Amino acid sequence: MFNLREIIRPHILNLTPYSSARDEYTGKAGVFLDANENPFGSVLKKDFNRYPDPHQRAIKEKLAPIKGVSSDQIFLGNGSDEAIDLLIRATCVPGKDSIIILPPTYGMYEVSASINDIEVIKVPLTEKYQIDVGAVMEDIHPSTKIIWVCSPNNPSGNLVQDSAIDTLLKNFNGLVVVDEAYIDFADTASWTQRLEEFPNLVVLQTFSKAWGLASLRLGMCFASPELISILNKIKPPYNLGGPTQALLFDALDNESYKSEMVKQILSERAVLANQLSSLDSVIKIHPSDANFLLVQFQDAPTIMKYLIDGEIIVRDRSKVTLCSDCLRITVGTSEENAVLVKALRKFAQKIVSA
Ligand SMILES: *Cc1c(COP(=O)(O)O)cnc(C)c1O
Repeated sequence: MFNLREIIRPHILNLTPYSSARDEYTGKAGVFLDANENPFGSVLKKDFNRYPDPHQRAIKEKLAPIKGVSSDQIFLGNGSDEAIDLLIRATCVPGKDSIIILPPTYGMYEVSASINDIEVIKVPLTEKYQIDVGAVMEDIHPSTKIIWVCSPNNPSGNLVQDSAIDTLLKNFNGLVVVDEAYIDFADTASWTQRLEEFPNLVVLQTFSKAWGLASLRLGMCFASPELISILNKIKPPYNLGGPTQALLFDALDNESYKSEMVKQILSERAVLANQLSSLDSVIKIHPSDANFLLVQFQDAPTIMKYLIDGEIIVRDRSKVTLCSDCLRITVGTSEENAVLVKALRKFAQKIVSA
């Protein structure tokens, strides 16, 4: 049986969090002489002199119905990376505990674990980039606190089978984190809809990809109210700035524009995949449920160098588990994709004429 109190580090269960001025007085009107702010305003034209809401209440109230969860199931972070770090620090004892990752996958799970001196157990995905559930179950140790699943997976681009995630949730007494950074591009329901069913489920999403807000640094973490309150307890009190909160509040009115952009990206993805598939240098285009394509070339490092010389930057994943000779290509505008395809066609001609 999963018991959150057995997963959270004891000193964190017992921690008294920092209580900010804005925690201790939450009323509206008044003379605010409690937070040592500058009463005259800021050195900029706009006023930034007041500390922002440490709990981002207005945003969570607006976001909850959009995501079909309740406000107390939402944590907002300075990018998903903040949530990744906090989840590790809340559960894993440095030098003792471990996490399981499923390569090839997003790099930050391992980096965050390593910063915290947490052992990283790697259980590679299958050839089709699906979870080898038997192998994962075998590699779970008493010290294992979190299994990280990325779906759609970065860098392979595919959705991970629900049945595999389901099995992990039912058989592992630690946290199963499903990173859905690319969920907006996939034709599937979010795991947030199953939070009530699984107290050990954590879902990560981000405003950095489909919403087009990477520069604002805004990540979402959805979990049980009990786990969310632990994350809130250990986060830096004012982790989201006031301007960021204000911009996000307004952005939430524009979900339909996000959906329009997603549609366009998906149609560009199809065009790009089609054009790439006609190139001799391309061996395989992996099926994608995300806004990028993992493409296997005959000689990825040479293509990579050639593209960089033409100031076209893609991501070299050729050294990554199960990704030999693969480049990860983000779907751009039709103009950007055309520049890439033109360059790759020219590369082919160069080979022929050489
Ligand atoms: C891009 C990405 C994120 C987003 O990170 P942010 O810190 O929110 O920008 C998270 N997970 C995966 C797998 C990603 O590819």
